[in-house]
Amino acid sequence: MSVRRAEIESIVNQVLSQLSAAAGAPAPSETSGDWGVFERLEDAVAAAEAARRRADTIAVRVSIVEVIRRAARRNARRLAEMAVQETGMGRIEDKVKKNLLVAERTPGPEVLNPSAISGDTGLTLIENAPWGVIASVTPSTNPSATVINNAISMISGGNAVVFAPHPAAKRTSQETIKILNKAIHEEVGIDNLLTCVRQPSIEAAQQLFTFPGINLLVVTGGEAVVEAARDTTNKRLIAAGAGNPPVVVDDTADLARAARSIYDGASFDNNIICCDEKEIIAVDSIADELLEQLKACGAVQITREQAEAVAKVTLHDYPGPQARPNHRWVGRDAAELAAAAGFSVPESCRLLLVDVGSETDYVFARIEQMMPLLPLLRARDFDQALEWALLLERGLCHTAGLHSRDITNMDTMAKKVNTSLFVKNGPHLAGLGAGGEGWTSMTISTPTGEGVTNASTFVRLRRCTLVGSFRIV
Ligand code: NAD
Repeated sequence: MSVRRAEIESIVNQVLSQLSAAAGAPAPSETSGDWGVFERLEDAVAAAEAARRRADTIAVRVSIVEVIRRAARRNARRLAEMAVQETGMGRIEDKVKKNLLVAERTPGPEVLNPSAISGDTGLTLIENAPWGVIASVTPSTNPSATVINNAISMISGGNAVVFAPHPAAKRTSQETIKILNKAIHEEVGIDNLLTCVRQPSIEAAQQLFTFPGINLLVVTGGEAVVEAARDTTNKRLIAAGAGNPPVVVDDTADLARAARSIYDGASFDNNIICCDEKEIIAVDSIADELLEQLKACGAVQITREQAEAVAKVTLHDYPGPQARPNHRWVGRDAAELAAAAGFSVPESCRLLLVDVGSETDYVFARIEQMMPLLPLLRARDFDQALEWALLLERGLCHTAGLHSRDITNMDTMAKKVNTSLFVKNGPHLAGLGAGGEGWTSMTISTPTGEGVTNASTFVRLRRCTLVGSFRIV
């Protein structure tokens, strides 16, 4: 039996962490929790409420956020290894980068700016008030990164968080919650700002949709959970849902740069980030050259027959209109997909490509595959490419990209594509602050419209008006 070095290190780290927790921590009880992990939901919510009342000054929030950043940096690799080991999805090195990205580029309380209106009739102050306890349902695809990112954003807004992690990423999500809580306990002396229940499940997540004491529901996941939350919750909802991001390459693009961007973006963490490029729509006159450039980056072009074999192995209900990825194959390496489908590509291969001509109904173009296999469609011209991009994005309001030097095409697409992220001439990840300007988030609110979330998304605006006085002019 061969055990990978990363797996051995991860097991050793887990044992060490359990030993140190046992030595230094008070024994967990049903209501005291185990560094934020509680048996019962009511205790998780009550503990979070008590904790957030203790973190009620800006100075405390600032120090907590610094503590979280340091703890996340220290544990970035261990959590990345644990996530890959537990979920089987993604690539360790990419997950390390993702953990570091959220630790460093998620904004803290400094983005919360109160405002004032001063006039003849007096002074009005508009403040950013906490919601209180937020319920956050998190995905299996970015388990530690989402917890770190949400913790920074939500605590910065003065809130505590009850997480409902994906059951398939339970261990990594809970370990992240524990690590952050321990660090906050040691350096700031507050416990349980982040909580969850020991046995996560769909039912436990659904309980939170209507649970008393929860004031805001944040859902990061696929279409089913967003729909379920919309149908049942009686709370304010922020929904960060699924996407199917198209990337258009027109005949004016810098093709070497477009290929490098698409290769880096689409292959990152084996394509499981929701904003990653999911299908290429190239203008036909440059499509051959773009394919050559993508291959020069390391992508491997496969035949339609080979892609068909991958689809048969990796999709449920294929062929047919209900085809969708089998979780077993989401985020797997390109070489694993190939081997399962009966052909081989080099172990080092990060991205498979298949040329599907003008077939917009092609399965890997119309579904959110979250695998390192990208279809390339050939459009007659930019107008047709844009039409197909809108069709394949399906109104999910998530992400789209364009590689072009034509300002009119950039302007036209920017206006027509109603997505939370629109990225030009770079990998889609640049829209999350990885190689582009701006802050990062692992919760990109799509159907409910808050966009790339940060602390200012997780506050209630409250106005206080004083009539006739307090002006200084
Ligand atoms: P998933 O939808 O299977 O699970 C997400 C979370 O929702 C999990 O905690 C799961 O337990 C819960 N859940 C699922 N169905 C539910 C239901 N009916 N009722 C209550 N809870 C339910 O998603 P996943 O496979 O873990 O993650 C990938 C999906 O998430 C992709 O569709 C991806 O695009 C999306 N995603 C979106 C963002 C964003 O910021 N917009 C970020 C990451 C992932």
